[in-house]
Amino acid sequence: MSDVRAFDVASPKRTKEIIQKHGFTLKKSLGQNFLTDANILHNIASAAKLDPSKGALEIGPGIGALTQQLAKAAGKVVAVEIDGRLLPILKETLEPYPHASVVHGDVLKLDLGKLWHDHFAGCSGVSVVANLPYYVTTPIIMKLLEEKLPLEHIVVMIQREVADRMSAKPGGKEYGSLSIAVQYYAVPDIVTIVPPTVFIPQPNVDSAVIRLKLREAPPVRVEDEGFFFEVVHACFAQRRKTLSNNLLAGLFGKPEKPAMEAILAECGIDPSRRGETLSISEYASLANAIWLYRKQFR
Ligand code: SAM
Repeated sequence: MSDVRAFDVASPKRTKEIIQKHGFTLKKSLGQNFLTDANILHNIASAAKLDPSKGALEIGPGIGALTQQLAKAAGKVVAVEIDGRLLPILKETLEPYPHASVVHGDVLKLDLGKLWHDHFAGCSGVSVVANLPYYVTTPIIMKLLEEKLPLEHIVVMIQREVADRMSAKPGGKEYGSLSIAVQYYAVPDIVTIVPPTVFIPQPNVDSAVIRLKLREAPPVRVEDEGFFFEVVHACFAQRRKTLSNNLLAGLFGKPEKPAMEAILAECGIDPSRRGETLSISEYASLANAIWLYRKQFR
């Protein structure tokens, strides 16, 4: 059950009132689709399993609807907002929550290590919880994962189609380099599917709340992380091509074809398969074998 308080902004009526009162105009270019459903806001916050010993980092608080829910559960909330016009509104909506603070900036340019040090040092765990701006969903999630921040969960509202790709298993058309990148760092699960009607303004697509539970260690051992992802990208460069053709186009010269075939045989991978059929562990053994071959012969 949601815990709605008098000063909460979690309803279409209150959202419209606040926007009007401050003469605020929504910017499509900043992905400003505000959530107005108290139950969904509550469900997002509870999916992060917060408690007063924990911290929450929100990306894009908007007028503070989700920030208020996070502040009811967590001991410390930091919300990073790019749009300076929202700062006076957030000052008002977050006034009852002194343990929630706003950082004005672009999350993609921010030094998150420093933010952690400055704000979350005393927390027993930190999660990212957000209704993300859809135009930068993937760069934000990849930044959070690649910087290896000490995170428990990432719970985010994103486009449903992107959530499906992040959680896809081998064999389907959704499975690709994004699935592998996300699943290398985290275990994804889709918490709920959300229709456009709960946002102001309504987006053109369905949305989903996805929870990524960060892994303590990757599920596979790789010789070199950068090279592992290079191999994955090469194998998905042209989805309709076979592995052998993608590898020849991206990683091996023509004279190296016999060596490439020997590597695939050594890994027990049929060269006529397509990139979308390989599991993460097959990608790891392929990348490791190519890495060792290069060390020996190049
Ligand atoms: N959290 C609010 C809600 O659920 O109603 C607003 C979510 S809205 C989808 C996305 C928010 O992200 C907007 O407030 C937008 O200004 C902000 N934003 C967009 N790009 C950003 C960036 N690069 N860094 C930080 N905030 C950003």
